[in-house]
Amino acid sequence: MNPDRRQLLGWAAAAALAPGLRLIDLVQARSPEEAASVLQRWGLLIDVEKCSDCDACVGACRDENGWAGHGRPATDAQWIRKASLRDRGTGLVQTLPLMCQHCEHPPCVDVCPTGASFKRADGIVLVDKHICIGCRYCMMACPYKGRSFVHETLEGQQPDAPRGKGTAEACTLCVHRIDAGRIPACVEACAARGGAAMVFGDLNDASSAIVKAMAVHRSATIRPDLGLDPAVHYVNL
Ligand code: SF4
Repeated sequence: MNPDRRQLLGWAAAAALAPGLRLIDLVQARSPEEAASVLQRWGLLIDVEKCSDCDACVGACRDENGWAGHGRPATDAQWIRKASLRDRGTGLVQTLPLMCQHCEHPPCVDVCPTGASFKRADGIVLVDKHICIGCRYCMMACPYKGRSFVHETLEGQQPDAPRGKGTAEACTLCVHRIDAGRIPACVEACAARGGAAMVFGDLNDASSAIVKAMAVHRSATIRPDLGLDPAVHYVNL
């Protein structure tokens, strides 16, 4: 879609969803994107063998971003989940944390009609809830089931992770923490639990802990055949 047309649709959607919202608010909502640097690409490295019987990352993400469920697994928000993968060849079943993979070539962004789904310069894929019209095309396009839809009236929102009823959402890689020089809540909780199964860092920085770990341990992404180039890599997968 023509970018100008996509932007126009986004503005029209915002006007319909939030009367009184000024265009300047939309511009300001995108300022974090402008602050991000193309020199960095944030990613995760997860050792599957170290996290088979732990879900500290899920609880930490829920607390940090305020997406507590309502006991309805089919429709509850789920920014990160423990998923079971079965190797069709060997029958081996592994359990691993699965969240938005912050793809380099994200189909969720390609299909979004308003530009609400976007990728920051540093590779973090986000949803601008101000211009999301809730069409859920992104949810259908995501092969990792990384996105949720907010069905419920929201309560207990966290100031750093505002959400919107009727919009799509997903793991933000704790962008508010990253922009403040901190690590994502899931990684912090994993380390606190003693698991040390998750490493966060800059995939473009040869001196970063994540790149050094990937040089030592053979890692893989999920469904590399799709050509999406995820920023989340797994060890012992
Ligand atoms: Fe988009 Fe899904 Fe890739 Fe995340 S994992 S960037 S939601 S396609």
